[in-house]
Amino acid sequence: MKKVFILGSTGSIGVNTLNVISNFPERFEVIGVSSNSNTELLLKQVKEFKPKFVIVNDKNAAENIKGLLPADCKLLTGKNGLLDAASTADYDIFVGAMVGFAGLGPTIEAIKRSKRIALANKETLVVAGEIVTGLCKKYNAEIIPVDSEHSAIYQCLVGENIYEVEKLIITASGGPFLNKDKSFFENATVDEALNHPNWKMGNKVTIDSATMMNKGLEVIEAHWLFGLPTEKIDVVIHPQSIIHSMVQFIDGSIKAQMGLPDMKLPIQYALTYPERLISNFERMNMPVVTTLNFYEPDLNKFECLKLAFDALETGGTAPCVMNAANEIAVQKFLDRKIKFSSIPVLIEKALVEMGNHQSPDIDTIFDCDKRTRKFVQNLTLKENIT
Ligand code: MG
Repeated sequence: MKKVFILGSTGSIGVNTLNVISNFPERFEVIGVSSNSNTELLLKQVKEFKPKFVIVNDKNAAENIKGLLPADCKLLTGKNGLLDAASTADYDIFVGAMVGFAGLGPTIEAIKRSKRIALANKETLVVAGEIVTGLCKKYNAEIIPVDSEHSAIYQCLVGENIYEVEKLIITASGGPFLNKDKSFFENATVDEALNHPNWKMGNKVTIDSATMMNKGLEVIEAHWLFGLPTEKIDVVIHPQSIIHSMVQFIDGSIKAQMGLPDMKLPIQYALTYPERLISNFERMNMPVVTTLNFYEPDLNKFECLKLAFDALETGGTAPCVMNAANEIAVQKFLDRKIKFSSIPVLIEKALVEMGNHQSPDIDTIFDCDKRTRKFVQNLTLKENIT
């Protein structure tokens, strides 16, 4: 029986993880769950999965749940609660399913304890890839990616030698604005940006898909996960989201991993690897999938993708600045404070203003994240908000 700790259990990856686990009660036991503030769903999860502890990040929300938990379920709160649980609780698998930079600290604690990390929180590798992969080697911890593209590449690489890889080909749906002109971004609304054609995800990731920053973060994530340089990582638009990513080898052969877009599959793989277990997920009916299209991404239109490639090339704290600026810019857009087209503008300003630190330690990363957030939060643009 493997004990699973899910950081971010009320988000879309967390809910899907619990779905997968409920199919294998003889294999997995949920030992701990966490949420930022969704105590209503958290209570339901506690009732069904009977974890030993829950963590509520938001202190006010934590008040709501006090007294409602079973006697044998401990309540922890805030950032320290997350770190405490990650560094002391008894678990085998750490599912990093929370969104954003906040996942970094607890993930590092889990790595230091040599746990299996099922990683959906791409920001951990984006902002501190060198440190995180170094710690994984030192503590012999394994990261199994949950992000569908990286899971696809991981699956394509089973039995292969990384030195025989010519390039990784990361597929991108292109998001809701694939067929819109760049001029459309000026007045794109929050609802339009949240209307993703293939994937049902949380708001942050969905906006990142619309700007294609999500793909940019995934390129950086792939760089650290698989240890390949930028020039060996390609992005190709594939609107059907059937091929989740590909690996091209030095003999020209290409392996692709395919399936219906369903996050439960990469989650289950990350939990059970190197085994595969029987699933009841919907199967792909090949004759129904009549066309698979592929296009080159337009980096002039999707400026965020270009910014991410550049930040990876620059290295140091540039990806950390880019990520922090993006998190704040996306929140500002969701709060209808800035235009969709201003998201890359804010990120670029932050990259210019914050400078770059070439070989940051973990404290420098935390400091850089904090300063960038503050800078972007206070930044005002001369624009008419619609
Ligand atoms: Mg993805």
